[in-house]
Amino acid sequence: MVLNPESDIFVIDTKPLGHEELISSYLVKGSGGVALIDPGFPCSADTVLSGIEEAGVDPAQIKYLLLTHTHVDHSGGAGQILQKAENARIVTHKRGEYYLKNSGKITGGSRMVFGADLAGELGEAIDIPGERIETVGDGDTVDLGDKEFTVFRTPGHAGDHISLLEKSTGSLFTGDTACLQYPQLNHVPVPAGSPPVYRTDFIISELSRFKGQEVRHIMTPHYGESDLDIETFVESNIKSVKDTYETIKELFSQGLEFSQVIEKLRASILKDAGVTGERAPEFLTDTWLTIMLQVGLMGYMADILQYARDIRCFHTEAMLDATKR
Ligand SMILES: [Zn+2]
Repeated sequence: MVLNPESDIFVIDTKPLGHEELISSYLVKGSGGVALIDPGFPCSADTVLSGIEEAGVDPAQIKYLLLTHTHVDHSGGAGQILQKAENARIVTHKRGEYYLKNSGKITGGSRMVFGADLAGELGEAIDIPGERIETVGDGDTVDLGDKEFTVFRTPGHAGDHISLLEKSTGSLFTGDTACLQYPQLNHVPVPAGSPPVYRTDFIISELSRFKGQEVRHIMTPHYGESDLDIETFVESNIKSVKDTYETIKELFSQGLEFSQVIEKLRASILKDAGVTGERAPEFLTDTWLTIMLQVGLMGYMADILQYARDIRCFHTEAMLDATKR
């Protein structure tokens, strides 16, 4: 666990199955209570609870469990944490409420992405009772006394996604609107695509919106605080989102299969990171990165198909107009 003394915010490494620097959770102490952001996978609950204690916080002091979205790697452990943090309420976008109450959907998504065996090891989410859930939308605030979060509605990565800006410290909790940027891969930005709703046009405008804010600390889930300034961060993330879109279209147009596209993308990231397979942690470069790229590519394909559908609508409308005339 790392404390940024300037922002007074703790980064907790959730270490799923012992793997470091893949998924971060954040603990924010305010004069009016404590907030925990995105506790990670169900299997990480004990690690996160140890981090909370290490930060000198009793779980009973936690007022809010803020969830950027309900994907299992962000909110899968929320139910376990709530059992210990007996005074905490979950804060989520209203679209997330259904999944939190019906945790089988979260675990089902996990099985689809990670396969039954690995999903089993990553753990099962548990149902959250409705009375412990508060829903928020764009512009709403979450009060912690001397600290206050403003909600940014950011649905480009997932329908229930929000980002959070704590204004007194200028700390932005991006969620998966930001690219993945693992320290062990030299922070090379990799877009966090996800099916079925990933929208690159939304992500780009969401990232652009951050640029107009006073952001001094960029807290990403995958992984940790970025050391870039907000301008550079946004520009490099947008570039990666756009370049990846073009690369994927190009690779498919060359007739490559899904798995070949994954292998090309993976090789290019490892090359950009200046990391050979042997020097980097095996779980990250083989299993984890491959899975993230598979999910990411499915997200991009959904986005590319959306683009195709929009074009078709345009033509259909144009044809209808023509027949009216
Ligand atoms: Zn996600």
